[in-house]
Amino acid sequence: HLRFSKLRLTGFKSFVDPTDLIITDGLTGVVGPNGCGKSNLLEALRWIMGENRPTAMRGDGMEDVIFAGTASRPARNFAEVVLQLDNSERLAPAGFNDDDTLEIVRRITRDVGSAYKVNAKDVRARDVQMLFADASTGAHSPALVRQGQISELINAKPKSRRRILEEAAGISGLYQRRHEAELK
Ligand code: ATP
Ligand code: MG
Repeated sequence: HLRFSKLRLTGFKSFVDPTDLIITDGLTGVVGPNGCGKSNLLEALRWIMGENRPTAMRGDGMEDVIFAGTASRPARNFAEVVLQLDNSERLAPAGFNDDDTLEIVRRITRDVGSAYKVNAKDVRARDVQMLFADASTGAHSPALVRQGQISELINAKPKSRRRILEEAAGISGLYQRRHEAELK
């Protein structure tokens, strides 16, 4: 499967200086005191996979992911996340499948918005979303469960519970395609 191997954050939320997270095989745990940035790290993964709802990043607008400054450091003008995936099994979609690693970059610049690259080639948000939607159909699917989502699932009405489970099952990409096909 397409394994996440490295995550690099620059100016993303509290990660103002370039920060690398090396993801090795097996279970990775992230531990630290309240407010140290554990959830920000997970949100960076969500963001690089094409998430476009600011609320999913606990913000009012998408530019809220850019380092907002502290008493001692000025705010930044852009935030960037780079995700490297191990593609040695050549499971990436056609067009992106020539190399052993797949490098996805998303950068948001104030007043400009987001730009995406896959292996240094400019792509659309949708290309990245579809790449992960397709990679999610299978036993090794990336599934992100937010803080509080378990209790949401338990308390949800049947229709929204179904949506959460469909997302977890990795079939939301199929529905998205069907929906787009129906609109055409
Ligand atoms: P907990 O254990 O309470 O869940 P956590 O490790 O998940 O904590 P996060 O929620 O990831 O912590 O990090 C919160 C911190 O990130 C806060 O200190 C907040 O000020 C900081 N933060 C969030 N967005 C930005 C931003 N745009 N610029 C600078 N700092 C930010
Ligand atoms: Mg948290």
